[in-house]
Amino acid sequence: MKTILIAEDYSANRELIREMLESGGYHVIQASDGQEAFEKIIELRPDLVLADIQMPVLDGYGLVHKIRADSSLCNLKVVALTAYAMDGDREKVLGAGFDGYITKPLDMKTLFREVEKYLATPLEKKAGT
Ligand SMILES: [Mg+2]
Repeated sequence: MKTILIAEDYSANRELIREMLESGGYHVIQASDGQEAFEKIIELRPDLVLADIQMPVLDGYGLVHKIRADSSLCNLKVVALTAYAMDGDREKVLGAGFDGYITKPLDMKTLFREVEKYLATPLEKKAGT
């Protein structure tokens, strides 16, 4: 069973995503801010991270920065969950080290399609990150 960590400070959103993922057969770890997420990533080694951008303590950009600075996590896929859908945000998110992003609000079909895409992508060493 694949393990997915959700970092999201808004508990209603986090619970909704957890329920959707669990119904799809994934094991889900939850974190309510970026720092808690990073600690759980180190301890529990999820297969994929879905991270909100705006979170207290450590936001999504801070979280992905810490992940990319840790060589033991160089193959971990990190996908941003963002409500932003404006031009330029994709470049900002990808430039920060995320592997991609999913725009909120999420529907189950999109969530499963995206999650399966990132879990299925062959692991590769990231150059320059
Ligand atoms: Mg948030």
